[in-house]
Amino acid sequence: MNREVYGKLIFECSQPGRRAVKLPVNTYGKALESLPVNLLRHAGPDLPEVDEPGLVRHYNNLSTNNFGVDTGFYPLGSCTMKYNPKINEEIAADPVTGGLHPAQPFETVQGALEAYHTLQEFLSEIGGMSEFTLNPYAGAHGELTGLMVIHAYHDANGDTARDKVIVPDSAHGTNPASANVAGYKIVEVKSLPDGTVDVDDLRSKLDNTVAAMMMTNPNTVGMFEKNIPEIARLVHEVGGLMYYDGANLNPMLGVSRPGDMGFDVMHVNLHKSFSTPHGGGGPGSGPVGVRKGLEKFLPNPRVYWNEEHDQYEVTCADADALGRISSWLGNFAVEMRALAYILTLGAEGLAQAGPMATLNANYIKDSLKDLYKLPVPGRCKHEFVFDGLADKSTGVTTLNVAKRLLDFGFHAPTIYFPLLFHESLMIEPTETETRETLDRFIEVMRQIAREAAETPEVVLNAPLTTPIAHPDDTQAALTPKVKYADLQD
Ligand SMILES: *Cc1c(COP(=O)(O)O)cnc(C)c1O
Repeated sequence: MNREVYGKLIFECSQPGRRAVKLPVNTYGKALESLPVNLLRHAGPDLPEVDEPGLVRHYNNLSTNNFGVDTGFYPLGSCTMKYNPKINEEIAADPVTGGLHPAQPFETVQGALEAYHTLQEFLSEIGGMSEFTLNPYAGAHGELTGLMVIHAYHDANGDTARDKVIVPDSAHGTNPASANVAGYKIVEVKSLPDGTVDVDDLRSKLDNTVAAMMMTNPNTVGMFEKNIPEIARLVHEVGGLMYYDGANLNPMLGVSRPGDMGFDVMHVNLHKSFSTPHGGGGPGSGPVGVRKGLEKFLPNPRVYWNEEHDQYEVTCADADALGRISSWLGNFAVEMRALAYILTLGAEGLAQAGPMATLNANYIKDSLKDLYKLPVPGRCKHEFVFDGLADKSTGVTTLNVAKRLLDFGFHAPTIYFPLLFHESLMIEPTETETRETLDRFIEVMRQIAREAAETPEVVLNAPLTTPIAHPDDTQAALTPKVKYADLQD
């Protein structure tokens, strides 16, 4: 581990006698002496002894090793790294909501339950669904929950021979994984060269053993599936249900609704489309919506309006409901951020997000398609995929381009996904970037293409400005060093 680069651990900065704070004097007096001996410490805690400037600098310097949407442009495709308005944070951090206990009597948490219920209703309206649960903790968790709802629906119909879920070959990896965890076999359906589902291939795979088809729309290459009504009709004809992976609902906001496209069950990622920070395994939320007739299968607990008691209540008693899939009502702080976002933008503002994201993506795509290979031409939605540089003779790969971008203060786009192309470089600018940022990104991408042709070694050796340049990805995956002791070399 490179101390020059990472700095030291706070413990390594310790010098005996230094301190940044003075501990309060013991005001408990003799009371402490009455504690049982076995509860007392025999030696002082091993705390670092650091002066205040040293402490402040240590953590500030550490924090600058992070890259986030708050520090720069983050065009990570299939991930919607949009700016997260700070008012969301204020609302989520409000001590009134933060201090609530899940087991408080209903009458003391009416505001929180109303906020929760309101978000459910907003999402139902946005998705064209009948009801939402906010309980799942992430997109993949929402997929699993949605598939369990589908399972429960077929079971309730005595339709127990359905053991397959159809997933397009361009799907996000969580789709087949969730279907597998839900107990289904995965049947892959091919994509056409334009990235949309091959309807003929789909037809050949449909029969009465199909429980559901999972789809993303716009699909992974950012194209809208124009055949969606036909696809939904075919799947419904054999008794299957349509599952919408709405992790990336962003381009659809206020423009088009999965419920109107024929989907029966869907999830959204609040931590993508609804402006909650994500990445690094932080808290997420993957609410699941269902069309009319499937509501009763949604998981417990549920928030509902009790007419008789004239208040919001939470129930775990619904007989047909799935059991708990989360400890309580999901990640409340994430839900509150999403609610704040929706209320701040309003219907009108939300309806602008998708078209703006689409405009930004097309602007970048069209400004670069002479130098980067565009495998699926035409107007994209919120994101698009290049298949590496147009000039394949330079030896410069997508990985090199992504690493060179770091030198200019941009986060790399998603690379080598989707698997449809060898050199996938998936760019999603989102609606929250200015024209100047997009222009600067385009300029840098053009410069990298020029460098690849004229001075390829610059791109091949990039990044030149980051703390680490070329970690061994394979070793990191095979023999991860996760303990501090393992890092000492
Ligand atoms: C991000 C994403 C998911 C998974 O969401 P997580 O919250 O990471 O589990 C699923 N599908 C698509 C299309 C996604 O982009």
